[in-house]
Amino acid sequence: MIGRRGGAAHRPMTCREVARVLQACLDGEAEEATARRVAAHAEDCRRCGLETAVYREIKNSLARQEVPDESAMARLRDFGSALLTAGPPPEAYDEAAELGGGR
Ligand SMILES: [Zn+2]
Repeated sequence: MIGRRGGAAHRPMTCREVARVLQACLDGEAEEATARRVAAHAEDCRRCGLETAVYREIKNSLARQEVPDESAMARLRDFGSALLTAGPPPEAYDEAAELGGGR
């Protein structure tokens, strides 16, 4: 959880902004304030939270000099291009996609 002090600098980021800076954040290249806002958004937004986890996984693989999971890479590319071209999909779609694993 994140305390609410000040506030002006804590405007929520959009998914699109997160997608742009996520990599820099995980590389430790983003400003701390930015990294925090990304983390805050990832906590609220399930989709971005998942992508953050995928990024971490890829980075861990690379750090161990392993080949990152191909499906994770594809997912990530998909995520990035979907956000940058079409904007974030409606939440309902996300939920339905995740719950619809029964068939
Ligand atoms: Zn998001």
